[in-house]
Amino acid sequence: MNEAWPQEIDIAIVGAGPQALTLAVRLLQKKNSLSHRFLAIDPAGAWLERWRRQFSAYEIPHLRSPAVHHPDPNPFALRAFAESRSQGLVPPYDLPETRLFEDFCGDVIRRWGVGERVLPAQVERLEPFSRGQQQRLGLTLTGGRFLMAKRVVLAVGGGAPRLPSWAKTQPPVYPPERLLHAGQVDLRRLKQLNERALIVGSGLTGAHLALGAIKRGAKVIMMARRSFYAKLFDADPGWLGPKYLNGFQAEPSWEKRWQMIQSARNGGSLTPAILSQLRRFARAGTLSFYEHCEVQSVQWQGDAWRVTYVQSGSRQRLAHLSVHRIWLATGTVIDARGWPLLSEISEHYPAPTVGGLPVLDQHLRWPGCPNLFIMGGAAALQLGPAARNLFGGRLASERIAPALLGKTS
Ligand SMILES: Cc1cc2nc3c(=O)[nH]c(=O)nc-3n(C[C@H](O)[C@H](O)[C@H](O)COP(=O)(O)OP(=O)(O)OC[C@H]3O[C@@H](n4cnc5c(N)ncnc54)[C@H](O)[C@@H]3O)c2cc1C
Repeated sequence: MNEAWPQEIDIAIVGAGPQALTLAVRLLQKKNSLSHRFLAIDPAGAWLERWRRQFSAYEIPHLRSPAVHHPDPNPFALRAFAESRSQGLVPPYDLPETRLFEDFCGDVIRRWGVGERVLPAQVERLEPFSRGQQQRLGLTLTGGRFLMAKRVVLAVGGGAPRLPSWAKTQPPVYPPERLLHAGQVDLRRLKQLNERALIVGSGLTGAHLALGAIKRGAKVIMMARRSFYAKLFDADPGWLGPKYLNGFQAEPSWEKRWQMIQSARNGGSLTPAILSQLRRFARAGTLSFYEHCEVQSVQWQGDAWRVTYVQSGSRQRLAHLSVHRIWLATGTVIDARGWPLLSEISEHYPAPTVGGLPVLDQHLRWPGCPNLFIMGGAAALQLGPAARNLFGGRLASERIAPALLGKTS
């Protein structure tokens, strides 16, 4: 470890994505003297690397969320920043272009002086310690290095690829790049694709991959169990304020809250603009929508997949396809029960979970372990369906900051 890095720290934030950055600057806004008392820990050694990689790998031109959603505590800061730039906000909903958002985040990092606060390491183990009356958390980092923290916030994103059962059991007799989850695809590495590609999933990621493949000469089949449908934002804007959140937070049953999250997210959706772009390609014959279809099995045959799928409708029908490449844009699933970082914590402090989400307290603390906090999608039972988005980072920071700053028990 760099000698400058302490072996003890007040606050360790695991992860350095947009959610972690939102919390870090929120803490500094409330208490500037914290600037040397917290660290973010991320293998990238820099803020927002995974975010940047995802946007570049899928060649995403702009965000889905409007300009008020970003890591700075002032909601209008991005809009003000945009006024001095050539990159812009895409009308009519002022969606920040990817480059603008990244430059703005760079500006946030500079203004708040947090550029040097990311320790380049993976946290491999988290364990509770008692020091007299005081509770601490021990973090084992890559290479066996060790850091003791008074308080820890997990901001690790934490979604695991959601794979259909046939993909999990596929014998590895095919070239590995011919069947990938979207999280493994990097369009920048692909030049020409004079072939047929099947993209499974009804969400925006599948659409970005479809556009990238078409640009490289591929004919694309987009397949989903449902109809492809358009929705402006990931979650209805009612979930970004009291309209729906009040009812959600008044709901005493965690199971019902979980159901509310599922129905609000309602699987993957496209934006209206992307859907009409895809429809243009469908009219031109480079893209086909296979709706209400589900892959049943696939078989690698020489240089292509033979795909057997079921088409639902009044009569279920089995059909076949031949494609050279399959991308699973089937999303990610957050199940904190499988997080290695929580295994020892769960042993010491078993916590109830619903659908894989832990039941945290109102400050997003792990039950029984008051110095461990969780933000991101795993905090959705408290924060609602937008927990994993940029807005969720703001909501989580508002809950966590007062507890970290000792303004509450
Ligand atoms: C393609 C794409 C586009 C999106 N667009 C939008 C959008 O427009 N608007 C919006 O609101 N949301 C959007 N989202 C949702 C998006 O996931 C979140 O907004 C954001 O990335 C979540 O931030 P995060 O900090 O929770 O997670 P991440 O960005 O995933 O960051 C988590 C970090 O934790 C680190 N980490 C994980 N485990 C460990 C460990 N053990 N030790 C140390 N570090 C660790 C990772 O390296 C990573 O850097 C988009 C998501 C995707 C995939």
